[in-house]
Order: sequence, then C-alpha cells, then structure tokens
Amino acid sequence: MTFRRFRILILLGVLVAAVGLTWMEQSLVRSWRGPLDVALVPINGDGSPEAAEMVRSLKTSDFDDINAFLERESARYGARLSPAMQLALLPALEALPPAPPRDGSVLKTMLWSLQLRWWVYQQSGELLPQLGTIKLFVLYHAQQDGVALEHSLGLQKGLIGVVHAYADPRQMRQNNIVIAHELLHTLGATDKYEGGGRPVYPQGYAEPELPEHLPRREAEIMAGRLVNSAGRVVMPPGLEQCVIGATTAHEINFDEGFRLRFAASR
Ligand SMILES: [Zn+2]
Repeated sequence: MTFRRFRILILLGVLVAAVGLTWMEQSLVRSWRGPLDVALVPINGDGSPEAAEMVRSLKTSDFDDINAFLERESARYGARLSPAMQLALLPALEALPPAPPRDGSVLKTMLWSLQLRWWVYQQSGELLPQLGTIKLFVLYHAQQDGVALEHSLGLQKGLIGVVHAYADPRQMRQNNIVIAHELLHTLGATDKYEGGGRPVYPQGYAEPELPEHLPRREAEIMAGRLVNSAGRVVMPPGLEQCVIGATTAHEINFDEGFRLRFAASR
C-alpha cells in the first residue's frame, strides 16, 4: 500500500470514529435513562468588574430552577426523572470561545463549529473527550443601554452551548431561561420563533390548543417569549413560566426515550 493510500485510510478511520462517537453521544443523552450530565463554565465575557463579580459569586444552586423545570416538564410527558440534570459548576475560564462567523456562510460556519469543538476539547484539559457531558459556556456581560447581547447558541454535535448572559444577579432567572433553551438545542430542539422574536403559532405557544390571539402567561421554551395581554412579545420572568411544548418534546426524544426506558424496565 502506498503512503498516500495509507494516509487516506487513516483519515477515513478518524472520520468514521468521529461520526460514530457523535452518534453514540446523542443516543446516550437522548435516551433519558438518567439525569443529564451538565458542566457549566462561567466566563467574564467583557472584562468588566460587574462580570468578574458575577462569575466570582456564582453557586451551583443558582441553576437549580433549570433542574426543577426539566423535572416538572418530563413529568408532564410521563416520566419521573429526579434529578433530571446533574450540574457541575466548573472554575471560570479566562479564554473566550471562537466567535461564530458574522456572514453566516455555510462553509465558514462548518469550519467554525469544528474550531469550537476543538477549543472545547483543549479547554477540558483531558486527554479523551468527555462523551455525554453537555458543556455550557456562559459568558457574562455588564448591561449597557441600547446594546443587545450577542446571540447564544447550542450545538447538537459535540453537545456544546455558548450562552451570553447579563452580569446582574437580578437577571439570574431570565439568564437561566436562555441556558435551558441552549441546553435543549444540544439535545436536538429547534427554535420556535420568527425573525423578529415572535413565537410561531401553534408550536411556539404554551397551551397551543387555545386560539393564537389569546394572551399567554407562559412561554414555550424554544420560543423563549410569549405574547402578553398588551399584545407585546416579552420574556417571562423565569423558568416557572416556561413549558416544553409537544413539538420540542418530540425533538428531544422525550416520547420515544420514555417509551424505550419503561419498556426496558418491565
Ligand atoms: Zn435558539
């Protein structure tokens, strides 16, 4: 065998292994057999003293409402998962993850997602990738008037979320809505809002059986917002006012996952 052929064979092998591991990891987390394994890494996103203070003062219990949300919603779909998630709050990182391309070109986005996965692997400090662990990097930013946060994102391949959040303890509960939203992206959930942020009817609404024009008090998590009685599109105050709709439940394999789990335990 020539060296060239040998090299192609090795590269193919690596590719097959990577695809196989990604698939295995997805079927593992989407089987809902046990609590989700989540590692949360806080980062000072803008170098501000507010963000430094926020990162310093974070406690694991600050994220308890995410577990409560997942427990409550999984129960609604017929499974008792307690806890639904085990979250480890890791030490803060100094480095920032590579930023996504601004123009959204497909090739650049693909390259960036590989770069991001490589960056996550390097940051882990482990030799082997942490399979099955959802890695959430939360970048805290001081609030500036008129300046919107960058878009948060969650990638199914590699189970990675990059969340932009406000460095203000009063924003903690709404930050956790964004964290839960990106967490569900890593499990295969898709967005349920339109370009302007308005929820898509019916799948982006809580109580989708009610007509669209009726105001809601709860939001579907992958829409992240609701239309209130004043007709305004607003974010609810916390995860207590968020639900996982039927479409999202199907996307994250709640139904099939639970069916398999209970069939296996019989
Ligand atoms: Zn989203």
